[in-house]
Amino acid sequence: MKKAEKVIEILEKEISNPRIELNFSTPLELLVATILSAQCKDERVNRVTPELFRRFKEARDYAEADIKEIEEIIRPISFYRNKARMIVNCCKRIVEDFNGKVPDNLEDLVTLPGVGRKTANILLGNAFGKQAIAVDTHVKRVAQRLGLTTSQDPDRIEEDLRRQIPEDRWTRATNLLILHGRYTCKAKAPDCPRCGLRELCEYYHRKGG
Ligand code: SF4
Repeated sequence: MKKAEKVIEILEKEISNPRIELNFSTPLELLVATILSAQCKDERVNRVTPELFRRFKEARDYAEADIKEIEEIIRPISFYRNKARMIVNCCKRIVEDFNGKVPDNLEDLVTLPGVGRKTANILLGNAFGKQAIAVDTHVKRVAQRLGLTTSQDPDRIEEDLRRQIPEDRWTRATNLLILHGRYTCKAKAPDCPRCGLRELCEYYHRKGG
């Protein structure tokens, strides 16, 4: 069994419900929430999205919105002005090029303003039920520390993980790695003494256990 598969097996035992922590009920809602979550905690995003999603249901609603109304609702979010503009521009493109529906494939998703490969893969995996590896800051850090990649480049890290993890587990593996990075393998103070991955971890061994 490859190391990555062992990692996922151990995390499966430790994390019972590896789902994304952003609240959403449609692909559009997850797209909007993901844009809002850049450099902002999911918890904070979840506090503003109920009101946002109540007022704006379709891409067309955002595309035709008074941007001030969106700004007012998302004001507690970091960079709220930029993010409001990003959401509106993204939704305008969805209306113009995709008939108001969030596309369900990578090629089209990455043509949307403000949507990179990471956001596209989050959507594919969590809103469209596809298998996708999204390399966010947590996945990147945990994969590097464990020695599953030596790259700094998210696209290369995605490739490395795709090679080592069976395709039918890509989305689940992404969410497990994100949650492990968020709550245990934290950026500044990884909780190694309580981590079930110690034996497999290059960072831990390098630090002398
Ligand atoms: S042993 Fe430490 S560095 Fe390695 S994965 Fe666990 S928490 Fe992260």
